[in-house]
Amino acid sequence: MARTTQHVVNFTNVNRGDVGLVGGKNASLGEMIGALQPKGILVPPGFATTSDAFRSYLASNDLNGAIGQQLDALAGGKITLQTAGKRIRALILGGDWPDEIAEAIATHYRALSEAANEANVPVAVRSSATAEDLPDASFAGQQETFLNVSGEAALLDACKRCYASLFTDRAISYRQVKGFAHEHVALSVGVQQMVRAEDGGSGVMFSIDTESGFPDAVLINAAWGLGENVVQGAVDPDEYQVFKLFLDKPDLTPILEKRLGAKAIKMIHGRDGAPRNVPTSKAERQSFVLSDPEILSLARQAKIIEDHYGQPMDMEWARDSVTGTLYIVQARPETVQSRADMGTLKSYEVIDPGEVLLTGLSVGSAAVAGRVSIIESADDIGRFVDGSVLVTGTTDPDWVPIMKRAAAIVTDHGGRTSHAAIVSRELGLPAIVGCGNATHLLHDEQDVTVSCAGGEEGVVTAGLSDIKITEEALEALPETKTKVMLNLANPSAALRWWRLPVDGVGLARMEFVVNSAVRIHPMALAHFERVTDETARAEIAHLTAGYASKPDYFVDRLARGLSRIAAFCYPKPVIVRMSDFKTNEYADLLGGRDFEPHEENPMLGFRGASRYYSDHYRDGFALECQAIARLRTQMGFDNVIVMIPFCRTPEEADKVLAVMAEHGLERGRDGLEVYVMCEIPANVVRAEEFAQRFDGFSIGSNDLTQLTLGIDRDSDALAPLFREDDPAVLWMIETVIAKAHEVGSKVGFCGQAPSNDPDYARHLVKFGIDSISVTPDSFVQVLRNVSDAESG
Ligand code: PEP
Ligand code: MG
Repeated sequence: MARTTQHVVNFTNVNRGDVGLVGGKNASLGEMIGALQPKGILVPPGFATTSDAFRSYLASNDLNGAIGQQLDALAGGKITLQTAGKRIRALILGGDWPDEIAEAIATHYRALSEAANEANVPVAVRSSATAEDLPDASFAGQQETFLNVSGEAALLDACKRCYASLFTDRAISYRQVKGFAHEHVALSVGVQQMVRAEDGGSGVMFSIDTESGFPDAVLINAAWGLGENVVQGAVDPDEYQVFKLFLDKPDLTPILEKRLGAKAIKMIHGRDGAPRNVPTSKAERQSFVLSDPEILSLARQAKIIEDHYGQPMDMEWARDSVTGTLYIVQARPETVQSRADMGTLKSYEVIDPGEVLLTGLSVGSAAVAGRVSIIESADDIGRFVDGSVLVTGTTDPDWVPIMKRAAAIVTDHGGRTSHAAIVSRELGLPAIVGCGNATHLLHDEQDVTVSCAGGEEGVVTAGLSDIKITEEALEALPETKTKVMLNLANPSAALRWWRLPVDGVGLARMEFVVNSAVRIHPMALAHFERVTDETARAEIAHLTAGYASKPDYFVDRLARGLSRIAAFCYPKPVIVRMSDFKTNEYADLLGGRDFEPHEENPMLGFRGASRYYSDHYRDGFALECQAIARLRTQMGFDNVIVMIPFCRTPEEADKVLAVMAEHGLERGRDGLEVYVMCEIPANVVRAEEFAQRFDGFSIGSNDLTQLTLGIDRDSDALAPLFREDDPAVLWMIETVIAKAHEVGSKVGFCGQAPSNDPDYARHLVKFGIDSISVTPDSFVQVLRNVSDAESG
């Protein structure tokens, strides 16, 4: 190597093996340019100063001794961290560039400008410490970044500032904590051509689901303008999630989630070229930063990068506003989930939660009770009370010392890839980010419970609730002949169960997903003109803004909600049951009142199959069918089986199957299977006739017990008599299994009984049930009981 290239190297000349020379960030950029450009990964060109350059700079300015003195004084307690940091930075900033290094930087910069066909091409100048981003030291963002630097003098100045930032107070203390010797850490400066993202957009992505570690989903955050706001958590970004296993199928759109972020501000270049934040326009706030094809393109890039590195990755991306090209501007290994303990599954439950005070995006799945400590600015960090719940607007690396001492973290702003989220995850703390106004709604010393246990929405509730923690060892679980499946209701928590060795989902109640992901009565969307309640009209208009049509809102939200349940165990079967609200529950959906009759006894009323072919609900059912069709054919989840609840007669079954076929769900076509619930005694009595019309049964012991014993399942007074092991109920179960098996039909079980009492599974195994579906908390115990019962 020539002397000049020792101090500065082009990205094209480094690869992942060069961490010692140019630091992790720059080595990784070089690696991607060399190895992944042919595969379609675009990384902006640039160069890096080497660790040799850094050492030469210190040596030629005689700084080593002076810096050492300050550090010794700090170690000896003679001066404070602040004093040491300030003095060392001043020493570095006061140095002069050795001519040959300055010349090498300038030469490379001129070449970059020439290639870009632009005088003084704007560049991003980033620090890359040679001991940063190692797998066990990922508190990234320790050192400075300067965006939109233009011209040689400004570039040399920014490089010097990067050098000095190796000795920010937090970086010094971080290295002390981690035990890295200061003299073994050097700094490489990465100089990368700016992506013109100020009118484009940018963000962060992870090649796995950050909360659950689910390996088959990519998480993307996006905001308008330059990317720093997303990283810092200064903005509430859009969030998208993509299922990886279908990315090689060009006809599919496997986007599991699209959540519109508030995006109140964006970072642009001010008149002097320095970045600054400005408010976004209403149009920007109301639209997604990325189109569907762009979301899929980024997800594909994430997968290519992950495959290349052979491990989950954390990446930053930016979109050029002129060409629309998507660039990857950074990539580093994901450090939390990839090192998590895979042998156990810990879950949390808040007992008797108090009033909901606020909600936001949950980070992790833990819950904790504690006392609020509001810290509005980094200057007040000293006020933080150890062990309390840190409530703040946003965080940056200066906050790490108190984050480490917090019980939980709650922020006003930021998405799941913000600094607060990333650090909380590393520390294993529950955090709720992007709450909007936590710093206003909560007050110091308030007792609260912070829970991320319920799925994607984190909640802060009043008071100190008890928290039940269950830890399941996942090793050495038995294999069973009888399939053991899950009953899932909450799409936002579904990915969390991916490590359970389930045989699929035996019951996903659509009404739960409608409640959480849609919230509007389907008839109110199909016939908005018939909605009379003005408040409901306004809210429906608000929720459906941005969708192609009101019916499309229902189909889109429902399909996406269900897709997460379909994804976590793909390709195992997932039985989605069509909606089974009672009329009073349907009426409670937005706009529902205009479409539901009042019934004295909704449990025995207009519910289940009877609705689907009725003129009063047919158009609503059509939307349910379209959502399933979209899920199976456009999104690709062909593992989804449809189930019909509360089907009173075989004649009803025929009518429902005909309506389904009209709306793209023909039984048998493209492998579509249709099951029926066995939850009415008539289903048992006429089992052979039902078996002819469906691919299988699933026994609902809740309704079957209610209707066999004549006991309202919600009656407290009769609760002691409501027994699923009553001989009459057991007879029903045994009989339907025998009848179904005689004609070659399958029978599963999805009622609550074995979830409440895992011993109940023994009855079912004895009767020869094909599958048992239970809630996640009882899965492991039921699996063990099934295994015992099978072996004798
Ligand atoms: C049942 O009836 O047992 C059942 C699983 O359905 P649901 O509880 O939704 O009525
Ligand atoms: Mg039922």
